[in-house]
Amino acid sequence: MTTVTQQLDIAKIRRDFPILNETINGKPLVYLDNAATTQKPRQVLDALTGYYEHYNANIHRGIHHLAEKATSAFEASRRRIQAFLNARLSEEIIFTYGSTDGINLVAQAYGRAFLKAGDEIIISTMEHHSNIVPWQMLCEEKGCILKVIPISEEGELRMEEYEKLLSERTKFVSVVHVSNALGTINPVAQIVEKAHAVGAKVLLDGAQASSHLSIDVQALDCDFYVFSLHKLYGPTGMGVLYGKKELLDAMPPYRGGGEMIKEVTFEKTTYNELPYKFEAGTPNIADVVAARTALDYVDELGKEAIAEHEHQLLRYATDALEAIEGLRIIGRAKEKIGVLSFVMEGIHHQDIGVLLDQQGIAIRTGHHCTQPMMQRFGIPGTSRASFSVYNTMEEVDSLVRGLHKVKKMLG
Ligand SMILES: *Cc1c(COP(=O)(O)O)cnc(C)c1O
Repeated sequence: MTTVTQQLDIAKIRRDFPILNETINGKPLVYLDNAATTQKPRQVLDALTGYYEHYNANIHRGIHHLAEKATSAFEASRRRIQAFLNARLSEEIIFTYGSTDGINLVAQAYGRAFLKAGDEIIISTMEHHSNIVPWQMLCEEKGCILKVIPISEEGELRMEEYEKLLSERTKFVSVVHVSNALGTINPVAQIVEKAHAVGAKVLLDGAQASSHLSIDVQALDCDFYVFSLHKLYGPTGMGVLYGKKELLDAMPPYRGGGEMIKEVTFEKTTYNELPYKFEAGTPNIADVVAARTALDYVDELGKEAIAEHEHQLLRYATDALEAIEGLRIIGRAKEKIGVLSFVMEGIHHQDIGVLLDQQGIAIRTGHHCTQPMMQRFGIPGTSRASFSVYNTMEEVDSLVRGLHKVKKMLG
């Protein structure tokens, strides 16, 4: 079946993003660091200031007008995110500070209650540090064993090796849906199915996937899913943990404090029900409210149309960069999002980043919080251009011109 995706009006979309008018070193900003964080449209900025200007109040316990309005907007966001992920129930949506926070919550709360010495946890070589370190901390605490799925030279998970790692000792699998350093889209439904076949639970790190792919947690059948709004045109400091209700119910709380309790006495405290059990303290109310606007923005443009535009940019950029002598692309998976990591012979990635910045071009250089994967490729880091809905072919041309300049100066 072929689906006709609507052609996006990129010039119009760009007008939604005030920051794109900035000049850097006298040059128009070319922002190609979207895998680190995306820029925010006017609509999201208005939602943030609108909240503070018109109905700022603490939520849930207030009975005055503003508190009710804030609570209602806050909970409307939860239902919006439930729909965005196609979760079965709204109480399966827990607000966090981001993907990192969500993974720590699961590692600590699920890990403490259900994992014991000798249990095996599987991650992969392409994980972000935030999906490595929380598990290492847990392993140290509990005596669990961390196993790592290797990746191919192209930057794809070696699924046959994954199957060999799975056994009745495997209790948890935590892998990235889409790699931030390579752009690889992993076969997560298959990963979940194979883990479930040995009785293991699965967390998917959707920090990159959520802005490029449609996510259906029921179809994926994953047990937990995390993402961050700031990589999805939304505010920083706000993220989502999805978890299956029966697992979240069985897990102990992660942080203690206000909101997460039912009743507190010095003898014994009883905990609140889902989702509040995991939301101690005053949350980022404004950011949660604005998250809904960010998701509306994405869905109005259409994820398919966004993905198609980003793919065009990726194809165009891949061809153009490959034509540069001495440049090597790291991450050549068949299924990729608009992330382009590369190294240039004899030129340090940091110098590339600095010289491009002088031309107003923002890319990311370094290990991209994936040091073990850089070790796998035998490199200290890469330069990474990552695309978003507001990027243009002309900006890719600027990048290519910039890299030729870098080569002339340093190559
Ligand atoms: C950005 C990122 C994270 C961490 O997200 P935070 O918002 O910094 O918590 C985790 N995993 C991947 C793949 C990422 O790209």
